[in-house]
Amino acid sequence: MSATLARHDPDCIFCKIIAGQIPSKKVYEDEELFAFHDIHPAAPVHFMIVPKAHIPSLAQATEADGALLGRIMLLAPKLALEQGCNPYPEGGFRVMVNTGAEGGQEVHHLHVHVMGGKRPWSRG
Ligand code: 5GP
Repeated sequence: MSATLARHDPDCIFCKIIAGQIPSKKVYEDEELFAFHDIHPAAPVHFMIVPKAHIPSLAQATEADGALLGRIMLLAPKLALEQGCNPYPEGGFRVMVNTGAEGGQEVHHLHVHVMGGKRPWSRG
């Protein structure tokens, strides 16, 4: 197992989803990343991309995680189209990373929300 995958928190709900211990509607998976639909969608298309490594938030990401974060950003537009978001520029999507209590973060495993579809939707 790589050093990245070794970062795992047995009490983390997203670690449990990644491990298949809690069911989810999977959108994508590779060695480093996992994507699944949000259980409470705030837009017609709403999924999250997470690193399999348990990084608690964007505030704990380090230089060593740079390529991983880049991969998430490049995966977002591809999966957004596959999940039914309309193409840029008329369509598009929102990428959101809530970080810490004042950032509205509820689950402390770094996750990138991808939201799109025809407006209006509940998060602005
Ligand atoms: P945050 O507020 O931390 O950025 O977002 C956490 C998100 O995770 C929320 O939008 C919430 O609906 C979603 N969520 C929480 N628990 C579960 C779960 O067990 N399964 C799925 N699919 N989503 C979850």
